[in-house]
Formats: sequence, structure tokens, C-alpha cells
Amino acid sequence: MPDRDIALARAAGYATQWLDSLATRPVPPRASVAEVTAALGTALPDGPADAPRVIDLLASACEPGLTAMPSGRFYGFVIGGTHPAALAADWLVSAWDQNAGLLLPTPALAAVENVAKGWLLDVLGLPAASGVGFVTGATMSNFTCLAAARDAVLHKAGWQVAADGLTGAPRIRVLVGAERHDTVDLALRYLGLGAPEVVAADDQGRIDPGALEAALAAGPETPSGPAIVVVQAGNVHSGAFDPFGPAIEAAHRHGAWVHIDGAFGLFAAASPRTRHLVAGYEAADSWTTDAHKTLNVPYDCGIAIVRDSAALRAAMGMHGEYLIRDAAGDPFEFVPEVSRRARGVPVWAVMRALGRSGLAALVDGYCRHAASFAAGITGIDGATVENDVVFSQVCASFGSDERTQEVTRRLLADGTAWMSGSRWRGTSVLRISVSNWSTTDDDVRRSLESLRDAAK
Ligand SMILES: *Cc1c(COP(=O)(O)O)cnc(C)c1O
Repeated sequence: MPDRDIALARAAGYATQWLDSLATRPVPPRASVAEVTAALGTALPDGPADAPRVIDLLASACEPGLTAMPSGRFYGFVIGGTHPAALAADWLVSAWDQNAGLLLPTPALAAVENVAKGWLLDVLGLPAASGVGFVTGATMSNFTCLAAARDAVLHKAGWQVAADGLTGAPRIRVLVGAERHDTVDLALRYLGLGAPEVVAADDQGRIDPGALEAALAAGPETPSGPAIVVVQAGNVHSGAFDPFGPAIEAAHRHGAWVHIDGAFGLFAAASPRTRHLVAGYEAADSWTTDAHKTLNVPYDCGIAIVRDSAALRAAMGMHGEYLIRDAAGDPFEFVPEVSRRARGVPVWAVMRALGRSGLAALVDGYCRHAASFAAGITGIDGATVENDVVFSQVCASFGSDERTQEVTRRLLADGTAWMSGSRWRGTSVLRISVSNWSTTDDDVRRSLESLRDAAK
């Protein structure tokens, strides 16, 4: 067997060993950065090594330092698992090694990604003619959609960003809810738009549409100058959804572009049971979601969706003479990168594997497990569920900030499950996010048992 085949077979072996270990291994890592570094060795070798030996070293040095993030008992941050079809498809993407930015030399992957785009717009209930780009995550999707927004609202005001830049441009007002994700601010910073105006949110973190209307009406520019409003589908603490109907209606009345950050929550639209949560969302101008969260493809994959496909293409396109161009638009014209891996392929694979009903069941499963967590926590002495559990997120407190932090510390030390410590609305909380296809009723039972012990 050539080295290549041995290396690939070893990698597949280590991968299945790792995945098999998830059922029983503690979720937290055993080794520190320093320990893994020591196992790898830091001196660059003078000469070459066989590929299989490199893989052996990598796998053995890293194994103790890995967190069981793909485990059904990992509920930290908002970290999706990886569906087997998506993982295997991602291996093929690496082996095929196609530069998916260009359409003509990579017809196969352009076809797969185009089908995936169509399916996404279908299950998310968004306009079929929208422009879609596969980016690295929701941060870059927010950036991509807001770049289209920035250029479009300035174009409407008679200013061309591509030609004239931002210096001297009319000021764009950007309004966000008090509990938008921090990465929205980061994307605005990348875009040269500065810090947004913050609109009050209610006790679940939802933007107050009355306050939004008042802020838009208050000026400073009258009549309304260029403006962008960012609303949210899925608050990372409460899972709550902004009231899209009234918020979008108010924003549009004032001529603003509306962007929805739905990094994990936009997929509520994929299930008949949760679709009511996003009511009115389809009237927005652009939408962000992640495939590496709710949809369970491997990192890194986010999705940027813009109703006016031409606006997205105008913001992200590029016109190098040496690039082979296609009339339909090359994939690179819808994303910030030119060269990139075919991140849409694992998206296609998981959607092909689950189908419409499986996608709905995936979302429903997260919600069902989150509800079980909330019910279980309510039964723990001194514990309070801090949010209305409407989707995949649960926030709990245990009497005082000190006690909540101690319960969190003990839970992580036990290692059965991983939940994030956080602060929400001025209180320390233990935050649970259910976003892994493989989480079972038994995982939830075991995790609650560990939480009950930690709270004793
Ligand atoms: C996770 C998240 C982001 C950032 O997503 P990345 O994929 O980490 O870039 C943005 N907004 C919300 C609501 C999120 O949950």
C-alpha cells in the first residue's frame, strides 16, 4: 500500500476511535496546551517523515487534549454536532480538493452547492431568487449581508461605496437590539460603520418594536437617511426571537434595510412546530444562519442570504481579467473569499440524509430536550429556570451568583456533561444549548443527574 493509502486509512481509524469514545469519555479534555505541545515536540525536524507516522503522532498527541464537543452531552456555547453524512462528505471535499470559488472548472461542486442553496431557501421559507453564499460562519455571514446592506442603502442615497469608499459618505444609522450577538458589532466594525445605536430589549432579550419605531422616528436625519436595522432569530441565552412583524414593518416604513441574525434560530422555520417563532421574518432583506450549529455540518460553514441577489453580487463580486467568468455568476461573487473549499457539500449531504421531515425532527428534538432540561431543573432544590424555554436554550440559576458558579464548576469537574457558565441580565447563569443530532433522552437524563449532584 502506498503511504497515501496508509495515512488515509489510519486517519479513518483514528476518527472512528474518537467518535466511538464519545459515548463513555468525560466531556472535558485531560491534557493542557503545554502537555499536548510537549507530546507533539516543538523543534522543526531537519528531514521528512512518512505521512502515516505524522498521522500517528498527531492523533496520539492530540487525543488527551480534545473536548468531546461532538458528544450528545456537550451543551456549551452553541456548538452543533456533526451528522455522519456531513462528516464523510467533508472528507471527500478535502480529497477532491476543488477550488469552489470558480464555476467553470468545478461543475460538480457548483451543481451540489446550487442544489443545497435551493434546498436551504426552500426549508427556510425564503424567496427562491435570493443570493446565497457559503461563508465560514455567522460572523462572516453577518459581515457579508451587512456589506450588501451598506452598499445598497448608500446607493439609494446616491453614493457608490465601490468607487468612492466611505470617506465623506452619508452616515448610515445602524440600529440593533440590546441583546444582539457581539459579532454583529464586530461585522459593523469590519465594514467601517462603527458602533450601532442600541434599542431596548424585553425580559427575554427581544428587541422592543415600539422603542425601535421611536428611535427611527427621532432622527437624527429627517427625512430618513440611510439606515440598517439588525434583528435576531435566537437569543443565545433565552433562545427568544425578535418580534419580526412589527420590527420589520417599522424599519421598512423608515426606509431601512433589515437584516436577521439567525445563526442557530433561523432553522426554526424548518419545522412546522417552531415556524411560528419566526413569524414575519420573510419580509427582511437579508438573513444569516450557520450550518455548523443547528444543521450539524463540521466547522466552518455559515450561510449568507440576501433577497436582492444583485446587491450581494455587487458587494462581493470582483472583476479580475484572468478569472474565468460565468454569466450566472461565479460562487466567489457571493462571498468575501475567492479561493475556498466547497463548504456547501456537507450542507447538501446532511439535507439529503435527513430530508424535509428529518430536518424538522432535528429541530424538534433540540426543543424537546431543552424542555426536558427545563422540567428537570425546576425539580432541583433552589434552582430556577431564568428564561421562557421556547427553542433550544435554557438558562438556570441556583439561588445566588456564588452558588450558580460553584454548581457550574462542579458540573464541569464531574465531566458527564458540559454546560457554559455565563451572565445574563446581571445574573450568573448556567447555560444549556441543545444542538446535536446525536443527543438522546438518556444523555439528557445522565446530564440532569450530574447537575442534580453538582447542586447538592
Ligand atoms: C454563534 C453566533 C454568531 C457567531 O457565529 P460564528 O459562526 O461563531 O461566527 C452570531 N450570532 C449568533 C446569534 C450566534 O449564536
